Amino acid sequence: MHNTLYLLPYTDVPLWVTDRLALDLPEWFDHPVHVLPHHEPPEEAYAPHRGQFLADALLQHMNHLMPRDALKLLGILADDLTTHDTPFIFGQGQRYGRKALISLYRLGHPDLDRCYTRILRQAVHDLGHTFGLEHCLYPACALHPSRSVAELDASPLELCHEHHRALRARTLTRRP
Ligand SMILES: [Zn+2]
Ligand SMILES: [Zn+2]
Repeated sequence: MHNTLYLLPYTDVPLWVTDRLALDLPEWFDHPVHVLPHHEPPEEAYAPHRGQFLADALLQHMNHLMPRDALKLLGILADDLTTHDTPFIFGQGQRYGRKALISLYRLGHPDLDRCYTRILRQAVHDLGHTFGLEHCLYPACALHPSRSVAELDASPLELCHEHHRALRARTLTRRP
């Protein structure tokens, strides 16, 4: 049965990040979370002229690492992430798909709690897409898109009423 959310840390992702996400994400998505061993990001996903990894190529590569019982797979990259037509992205989630990807590269802060809140918000945002959630118009919702860390910090770690209801409806199916 596909029931588990897997976290896939790539090289240099600190253990405390995956440890804390493994504790917190079940409260959001109501599924068990398992952490996979660290993997090296594939060379073909690296764009040397940009010094960044390309999200499409990494998401493609994640197909090979998808565990059999995975409901979703969240890749976590320490390096900078982008797409062909943007300067950078914080993350990407396939709408109604099984894969999401976030980058820690631009989320750093000397206050680790502040840093972690950014990471958790981005993980909720991009995993939210995989559960079918669309972007939100309300800035006070984790599904509101952020283009800068200032916007990310300004958005609380919450879902609006509508998204909260939509997520509950889509994650409760595993319950008897
Ligand atoms: Zn988004
Ligand atoms: Zn919302």
